[in-house]
Amino acid sequence: MLVDSFGRKHDYLRISLTDQCNFRCLYCMPKENMEFLPNANLMQADEIFKIAQIFVEQGINKIRLTGGEPLLRKDFAQILQQLSKLPVSLTLTSNGYLIEKYLPQLIEAGVKSINLSIDSLKPQNFKHITQRNGFDKVWNAIDLLLKAKFHVKLNVVVMKDNNLPEILDFVKLSIHQKLHVRFIEFMPFTGNAWEQAQVVTHAEIIDLVRTKYTITKLVDEKHETAKKYQITGAKGTFAIISTMSEPFCEDCNRLRLTADGKIKNCLFSAEETHLLKNLREGKQILPVIKQSVWQKKARMGDQFPENYKDTVSAKIENRSMISIGG
Ligand code: SAM
Ligand code: SF4
Repeated sequence: MLVDSFGRKHDYLRISLTDQCNFRCLYCMPKENMEFLPNANLMQADEIFKIAQIFVEQGINKIRLTGGEPLLRKDFAQILQQLSKLPVSLTLTSNGYLIEKYLPQLIEAGVKSINLSIDSLKPQNFKHITQRNGFDKVWNAIDLLLKAKFHVKLNVVVMKDNNLPEILDFVKLSIHQKLHVRFIEFMPFTGNAWEQAQVVTHAEIIDLVRTKYTITKLVDEKHETAKKYQITGAKGTFAIISTMSEPFCEDCNRLRLTADGKIKNCLFSAEETHLLKNLREGKQILPVIKQSVWQKKARMGDQFPENYKDTVSAKIENRSMISIGG
């Protein structure tokens, strides 16, 4: 198993397939200085498979494909099909725009659960946040996934000025449909103009939901990053990913692989270790993986203060979220 110096076992790998995206979410893609990776620097389909295989031999049993927008990869179907041969639970995080195109392949590959990002239920506000006109396609994707019996989680990054007034509309979605809404606290990454004042915390969201609904706290599964709740009598659930106000590092089981083949042992790690370069040079990559895991820091890449309100985002050494792979 891939164990770090704090005894945390890692069995979950998130693989970014690209740093490109068809949306421009305000909190994710930097407005300036965004340099996309040249194709030659991206892991190719067979390289993704080879690297993933090595991780799986070390106990990884869940792989999430992400990005940028993973469905933009021209060879997405091939990558998916190859990875589906591995003994892992294979999942995807997508903005939903191209879901319809790949629905048959996702079913064929045995994908059961999909995280789909949607930050507003109002087409005009959706356009403001994503800088693109994609609301109808994304909304339709949710419907298609539910009809095809996927477990659908909706990722909503909550920000005071973007969508705070829509929280109750989002939780309402979970009443009549088997949808699992997940509110994510706004996190700082390179170029995303993070401000503490824009963060809406776990506690604030719960207080707001309680003004309208009676809710129950559900039991959270092991390694779960989201704190799960249910409105009484609802078909679905809602949850909060409280990375900023109540981080969950003690129980972390995640590793990340960037689209250019670097292992990041934490979403906030400054350090990255090149696996693809070593693989292309014919070197063993397992020792490099093990060393990177061992060096994982106890909490948030060792780059955050105890209280998130004291965070100075300019001091954090990291990439933009779009180039890490969320
Ligand atoms: N394009 C896909 C999507 O939007 O779902 C996958 C990649 S995206 C980087 C993965 C997730 O990270 C999305 O749910 C997105 O909302 C979230 N995310 C991006 N930037 C974030 C930030 N600054 N704080 C919190 N979540 C963020
Ligand atoms: Fe693209 Fe997803 Fe980032 Fe939005 S959150 S810009 S859809 S990668």
